[in-house]
Amino acid sequence: MKYEAVIGLEVHVQLSTKSKIFCSCSTEFGADANTHVCPVCLGMPGVLPVLNKQAVEYTIKAGLALNCEIQRKSVFARKNYFYPDLPKGYQISQYELPICLNGFIEIEVNGEKKKIGITRIHMEEDAGKSIHGENLGSPAHSYVDLNRTGVPLIEIVSEPDIRTPEEARAYLQKLKTILEYIEVSDCNMEEGSLRCDANISLRPLGETKFGTKTEIKNMNSFKNVQRALEYEIKRQAKILDEGGVIVQETRLWDPSRGITLSMRSKEEAHDYRYFPDPDLVPLIVEKNWVDEARETLPELPDAKKERFIKEYGLPSYDAEVLTSNKRYADYFEKAVKHHSNPKAISNWIMSEVLRDVNEKGCDIFDLNVKPEHIAEIVKLIDEGKISGKIGKEVYQLTLESGKSPSKIVEEKGLIQISDESAIEEIVKKVLEANPKEVERYKNGEKKLQGFFVGQVMKETKGKANPKLVNELLKKLLS
Ligand SMILES: [Zn+2]
Repeated sequence: MKYEAVIGLEVHVQLSTKSKIFCSCSTEFGADANTHVCPVCLGMPGVLPVLNKQAVEYTIKAGLALNCEIQRKSVFARKNYFYPDLPKGYQISQYELPICLNGFIEIEVNGEKKKIGITRIHMEEDAGKSIHGENLGSPAHSYVDLNRTGVPLIEIVSEPDIRTPEEARAYLQKLKTILEYIEVSDCNMEEGSLRCDANISLRPLGETKFGTKTEIKNMNSFKNVQRALEYEIKRQAKILDEGGVIVQETRLWDPSRGITLSMRSKEEAHDYRYFPDPDLVPLIVEKNWVDEARETLPELPDAKKERFIKEYGLPSYDAEVLTSNKRYADYFEKAVKHHSNPKAISNWIMSEVLRDVNEKGCDIFDLNVKPEHIAEIVKLIDEGKISGKIGKEVYQLTLESGKSPSKIVEEKGLIQISDESAIEEIVKKVLEANPKEVERYKNGEKKLQGFFVGQVMKETKGKANPKLVNELLKKLLS
């Protein structure tokens, strides 16, 4: 039977506030275990939480950027469960009345645009971290680090609008891009600033009722989300084909084996005994607060992409790549200011620059090649002073030394030879040195043109204007 997958994603995002959500402890990652703690985040009796205003502002910004309605009144609730990394025995979250409702993100997969609904965004506190003994010398023990306890989180819950693993990945990529643009989270997946769980069920194509879903946890990269969903679709389809029943449960993704494993039967909301936190008054967000937050929003990725297409005449693909990261977009716009050839500059960024950024894993502005250098290389090529090939050589030298391209061209004498008589001399010399090839060419082996061009370039160390070389070869060989 043919099935359709119904996927919903729950994404937890750590907000990049300096202090925790209900106390003034630092949120800094990587400190010694249990050094960023106080009676509030340790859940001591008698302490009172105080809400972090910055965390609320970041949540409002996220809500606006994701097209949500910001609720005037929201309420913090206690989500009760026992776990060693949760000292209070409950997590402060929002349940019935979350701060943001009814948003959406627009994604594009295989050239098709689609809106994915966002049901809600709620605020909550993070739990601590259990560390199992193997890494700390005692396999028989587990340890707990409570530095993360109380770090502000938002949970972004999507509608079950996603139909394929590719759409899930595109949704996550877009979500991450938007959150990075508005600078409310560093979205660092390795450090756990962005974590994703997925709900997935199958139903026969054409059916409108939902099937039984499973929840997948422990996917620490977008690639793993996609792989886990692909695996889960196959697993569920096989069970359904054999007439079996899907068990509603939570499953763990095992990236090394490429499979999901049953972890526990899925808990229902009533298992958590939610109730409003009596220590926190309802959160009231007045309209002027929302308006102020809206004014601080930067140009968002979709709007920037459209502008890049219109203003710079870039193809949609280029605009998509360049705006997928705000830093790339800024780098591009800086370069274009120095030399107005947007398409050529875009090509250089998408090929050379992003290749080196990925290879070095660094910020685009930390490369030795600065935006003005790219502009300079493109300008030198546009003015016919160097060839594209020499341009790549100059790029490499700038990358290594940080010296400006014009300086490198000058120092190394790389200025292109565009003097027709000078090139003609060299072409003649090459033809005289290769009489057999000339003979073969004249007998119809036209592809030898490339060989002659190569010889001329070798003679001139790549400096001959390639267009002129080709023209002269045709003339002298006819
Ligand atoms: Zn604290």
